[in-house]
Amino acid sequence: MKSHARVVVIGGGVVGVSTLYHLALKGWSDVVLLERAELTAGSTWHAAGLLPLFNMSYTVGQLHKYSVDLYKRLPAETGQDVSFHVTGNLRLATNRDRMDEYQKYCGTANTIGVPFQVISPREVRELWPLAELGDGVDTTKIVGALYHPDDGHIAPADLTMALRKGARTRGAEIYEQTEVTAVKRTGSGEWHLTTNKGDIVAEHVVCATGNYARQTGKLFGINVPSIPVEHQYIVYDESPELKAYRQNGGRELAVLRESDESYYLREERMGWILGPYEAGAPARFADGVPDWFGKNLFEGDLERLLPHIEAAQRRVPSLANCGIKDIVNGPIAYTPDGTPLVGPAWGVKNLWLNEGHSFGITAAGGSGWQLAEWIVEGEPGIDMMATDPRRYGPYTSKRYVVQKNEETYRNVFVIHYPDEERADARPAKTSPVYDKLARMGAVFGQRYGWERANWFAPAGVTPEDKWSFRRSNYFEHVGNEAKHLRKHVGVIDLTPFTKHEVTGPGAEAWLDSLVANKVPTKVGRIALCHALTRRGGIRSEFTITKIAENHFYAVSAGAAERYDADYLQQMLPADGVSLRNITNSRGVFVVAGPRARDVLAKLTDVPLDNAAFPWLTGQVAEVGLAVDVYLLRVNFVGALGWELHFPIEYAHHLFDAIFAAGKEFGIGMAGMRAMESLRLEKSYRMWGSDLSPDYTPYEAGLDRFVRLNKGEFIGKAALEAQLKAGVPHRFVTFEVHDVGDADALGNEPLFDADGNLIGRATAGYYGHALGKSLGLGYVKPQFAAVGTEFGIQILGERKRATVLVDSPYDPENKDIRA
Ligand SMILES: Cc1cc2nc3c(=O)[nH]c(=O)nc-3n(C[C@H](O)[C@H](O)[C@H](O)COP(=O)(O)OP(=O)(O)OC[C@H]3O[C@@H](n4cnc5c(N)ncnc54)[C@H](O)[C@@H]3O)c2cc1C
Repeated sequence: MKSHARVVVIGGGVVGVSTLYHLALKGWSDVVLLERAELTAGSTWHAAGLLPLFNMSYTVGQLHKYSVDLYKRLPAETGQDVSFHVTGNLRLATNRDRMDEYQKYCGTANTIGVPFQVISPREVRELWPLAELGDGVDTTKIVGALYHPDDGHIAPADLTMALRKGARTRGAEIYEQTEVTAVKRTGSGEWHLTTNKGDIVAEHVVCATGNYARQTGKLFGINVPSIPVEHQYIVYDESPELKAYRQNGGRELAVLRESDESYYLREERMGWILGPYEAGAPARFADGVPDWFGKNLFEGDLERLLPHIEAAQRRVPSLANCGIKDIVNGPIAYTPDGTPLVGPAWGVKNLWLNEGHSFGITAAGGSGWQLAEWIVEGEPGIDMMATDPRRYGPYTSKRYVVQKNEETYRNVFVIHYPDEERADARPAKTSPVYDKLARMGAVFGQRYGWERANWFAPAGVTPEDKWSFRRSNYFEHVGNEAKHLRKHVGVIDLTPFTKHEVTGPGAEAWLDSLVANKVPTKVGRIALCHALTRRGGIRSEFTITKIAENHFYAVSAGAAERYDADYLQQMLPADGVSLRNITNSRGVFVVAGPRARDVLAKLTDVPLDNAAFPWLTGQVAEVGLAVDVYLLRVNFVGALGWELHFPIEYAHHLFDAIFAAGKEFGIGMAGMRAMESLRLEKSYRMWGSDLSPDYTPYEAGLDRFVRLNKGEFIGKAALEAQLKAGVPHRFVTFEVHDVGDADALGNEPLFDADGNLIGRATAGYYGHALGKSLGLGYVKPQFAAVGTEFGIQILGERKRATVLVDSPYDPENKDIRA
């Protein structure tokens, strides 16, 4: 075995081999793969080989599309057949919500160029003559279906061998029966891996170890939130009816998914493979894969599968005439949100994860492609936040991951409502005033392990969501919260914000080198600052306050805690700057609305008038009995108001004091959904949806937060180049006309009058105070002028939209400066 390589990939499943292939394809030939048994020995050998293009995520959708395109080209490139049966893929719908889900998906598919068709029950019959359309009595009626003509199924082992061939042809080496057993850092910062076949040193390591992800992570000292769950499929004997159909010239049937009954069915040697996603499938190997498991399977559990077998027999009656040949029950890697972990690990340099794949055959091509890009270029080519392993934090305890993964598995086929908030492993992380909010009727959601109040049910209203793609039971109440805040005063609990303290003589210069805006130079000033990728895309957004000389306070999105903390830590200079993550030691309440000053004036001696305390400034103050409160005149709802960032032990006191002081002004709570409505009215861009590495600050219309003349910062050269070449997209706020009950929500395609795609929405909702259905998004520059009309497709219906002035509510910012 070689003793040194530029990259070592651990794990020879389809994902590891694809990563190796793509590294070699990018020209890095000094790359090695180590596999403890033989290639495909993990989950890859027994996978059913389906390649569903369907995925609600903009990122994962692109990865799947890349895979399907790659797998079609691989045989010609490598000479290795991969048995890709392009049968098409048919997803049935038996109710309107399911059709809404498909239509919502179609928006994403449109924006990434995945071909699809929404078809009628009659067309289902033509495509799939062996299926019953349903009588509405014994079998539910099909109301429509989504058809992907381009996908199908593949032989996972053949695919792995083709990738292996492609990698080896380009110089990559593969060592089987070689298990990585220990890891240390060399003095020069490389990885030293010990294996049963000797040692190897590498600059980068990629973990692609499937079911072993947690134990591999432990070798490197990180807690990888991936634990496998049992997954089964049934292999049937020959079906006489299928055989007759095929012998009469019928083409191979599309892979059939009856989402509402949670199973898929595909042809296999004139018989069937039936794969349910059943309730009760247990997580396995939470404490590691035992030595005896190797290339094993679990005992089949037919009992668990019966409801799905019965449902499939109702839909395809001839299935009842086939005998069961085998049940394959294997471990399938899962993560709490069901999306893989593709990207850098945290807290260590040059360690990469390509783990947690539950659709790994489908995702292998795309994840290998982007991870190789990331390693070689230093950045991925597309926005990979959805798969970035740092979207999770230290809260992913073993029990959390077990509970969430089991929940995610049994929910694979549920309708993926945009406002869905699943119940398991909750509440985990709570703001100190969680119980108080619950007593006020809060309906919570979870983000990054935190409970956040989405809305508040008034007295007499059940505090419960009815999830939907359309306006739902909470619409009116969210509207009341938003309008109340605009008219009177409201409180929002934003305790989950990520908070960093940056101190030291080098603090200002260091921060300036990371962000495009000028970091505040005067004590008490606040600046909105964006950290960019080297390509100029927006990687993070920080609100930076200069608290004192050599002391900065940087606040970013709650869900970005590990993502931002890891980045800041990795970029930290050897001396002159010290960095502290103080997320959990400060709480945050927003007090905003026309009466915010009146409320706070009762609690603090600090003068709050415009001269003494202007917009975008902050002061360290006493508020009520609380000391050391960072009182920041800034907020994300576009109202007169302050954010109070206080030592967490004062949370109860401050909450009660604010409500006591605010009683005479009719103070009320506002939740996350009201905040969404309010920020859209102000065109405030949200990190993670409107702001992403796919777009630069110029595209996002954030020119005023870029200071090209301030000195060097990451991404500057790319911005200068973009200014020269022309900015390819423009960010717009638009009104959608003639909306019935479905607002834009993000990821809707935008079209010109001739039906050409001109952009995509990144967010949308109803602006309650404005009384308009709103959207935010990126369009080609010629469609960005105020008043321009274009079309937007919402749940299958084409609506008319008009570009509005930026910040359509109070464009002159009179409220915030009141
Ligand atoms: C029953 C079933 C059906 C499925 N059907 C489909 C499907 O139809 N479509 C789809 O897309 N996905 C399907 N999947 C999921 C798919 O099998 C996995 O997502 C995919 O195989 C994951 O590939 P991988 O390379 O990440 O992991 P694996 O294939 O598990 O490979 C990981 C490898 O790492 C090796 N390894 C671990 N630790 C070490 C170490 N320390 N040193 C060296 N080597 C190590 C292991 O031996 C193993 O070979 C199915 C899964 C199951 C269980």
